[in-house]
Amino acid sequence: MSGDRREGTDPFYSSAAWQRLREQVVLRDRGMCVECLRLYELGLIRKPRRAQMVHHVIPLKDAPELALTESNLVSLCYKHHEEKHPERRAREDTPRPPMRVIKV
Ligand SMILES: [Zn+2]
Ligand SMILES: [Zn+2]
Repeated sequence: MSGDRREGTDPFYSSAAWQRLREQVVLRDRGMCVECLRLYELGLIRKPRRAQMVHHVIPLKDAPELALTESNLVSLCYKHHEEKHPERRAREDTPRPPMRVIKV
């Protein structure tokens, strides 16, 4: 379990309390991504993926009091976690400078 590397910049994510709770949440979700399981039950995907991180349903910055509330946490795979954070994806997708055409 690698945890949430990108959210790992916040010292909260290296606290013992968080580490413990994160494991609890993954155990609760039986080590699977809850979003994958949902799609799997709907017959939309063939195989659910394993949980790769634990995500705050209400973001930490909006509800710091729910930081360690199990019901505010879900296990997600990398892909579905990214989908929960469109703000980050937008940042990542900022257009790169156009590729130079090299004439040979
Ligand atoms: Zn998933
Ligand atoms: Zn998250």
